[in-house]
Amino acid sequence: MSNSTKSNSTKSYAISLPWAEFADRDTEQAYRLNMQPMLARHLRVAMFVWGSLLLLFALLDLQSLGWSREFFILLACRVVQATLVFSYAVALRRRPQLASCGYAIAGLEIIGFFLFMPIYFLRPDIAVFTIGVVGIILLAMFLFVPNRLILTLLAALVGVALALLCIAANGRGAEVLFGAFFMLSLPVITGFFAAQQLQIVQRRQYAMFSQARKANRELQEEMERRRLLEEELKRQATTDPLTGLFNRRQYEMLFKRERERCRRQGTAICVAMGDLDAFKALNDELGHDSGDIALRHVADLMTRQLREGDVLGRFGGEEFIILLPDTGPAEAEKVVERLRTTLENTPVMLKGEPRRITATFALSEVQNDEVDIVETLQRVDKGLYRGKREGRNRVVVV
Ligand code: GH3
Ligand code: MG
Ligand code: MG
Repeated sequence: MSNSTKSNSTKSYAISLPWAEFADRDTEQAYRLNMQPMLARHLRVAMFVWGSLLLLFALLDLQSLGWSREFFILLACRVVQATLVFSYAVALRRRPQLASCGYAIAGLEIIGFFLFMPIYFLRPDIAVFTIGVVGIILLAMFLFVPNRLILTLLAALVGVALALLCIAANGRGAEVLFGAFFMLSLPVITGFFAAQQLQIVQRRQYAMFSQARKANRELQEEMERRRLLEEELKRQATTDPLTGLFNRRQYEMLFKRERERCRRQGTAICVAMGDLDAFKALNDELGHDSGDIALRHVADLMTRQLREGDVLGRFGGEEFIILLPDTGPAEAEKVVERLRTTLENTPVMLKGEPRRITATFALSEVQNDEVDIVETLQRVDKGLYRGKREGRNRVVVV
């Protein structure tokens, strides 16, 4: 990894304080998207716990207030709040993207405080306990309800302010207010820093995971690039660039391999050579480029005519080599004759005109004592001369 890339990647995963979010907006966005399903699950659990506790505590209200007006006001508050909370949990199941919109949950928390505080007035017997519960709610907001730190803090501050307002409205003095403020600050500060650490740890894990994934992807790409390069190098080393047919080194190697195999299996192997007729004249008349087109045309035609196991190579110039493993001379002659007629009957378009191309072929069965293709080719070459002398466009078996 180069220095600049390294500093770039470190920069994009930098976590800014105090809100413990990625400084880079795109990274933060990607992180939230990545966390969305898990966040939605956590939120659903938190909402069900919150809603259930709300309804459960109605029993305590009933126990001390009886079926009174105060009890029904409190019950209404609890039911409204629980309905909102459960609805949100249900909505999360169908639309998990709601989880990454922190405003919804912060709004719900703020509404929750407004619906919770009437208890402070309606149940003066447990006023101190109520403020204590607000403290627990504040802590739970930071630790149990996943949200952006800044939004949780905002909702918490609204909660603290509301609680202090209620205490003040109840006619309590500055001393009590100060005490309550101190008591409520504790869960906010503790919760804030605990949540901050959690957010940092989660983002660091995400950064490590993303970097590892990126490195893995780069490695895969590099491996694929090398594989293709290797394939290309192999292709270049084994084929002729103009026609794509095997080059001399490759078909000589394939000859040795096939020769050995045929010897072991007791089958015949034939070698044929084709030389295009009057090709110099074609080059002189239509130019070298047209000559090249004609050579490719011949290579394609012959490739299509031959079987899978046959080997077609370019000997050089306008001469081609055909290896026919597991093939005796009689059958080989038929194959080569088919090549010759197909070529003769398939003109190539050169400079807008169809041009008939013919070739003279010679073929021979490889003899037992021949291990090198050169030995067979000497005989085949003689056959080729004979074919040319006898009028070209023919197949000679030697
Ligand atoms: P013959 O029927 O006796 O084989 O006549 P010929 O003209 O084909 O024989 P010769 O060997 O004299 O000419 C071969 C020509 O093939 C010479 C050269 O112009 C041409 N040739 C060889 N290699 C290439 C090539 O890569 N591209 C092109 N366009 N022409 C080539
Ligand atoms: Mg020639
Ligand atoms: Mg020729």
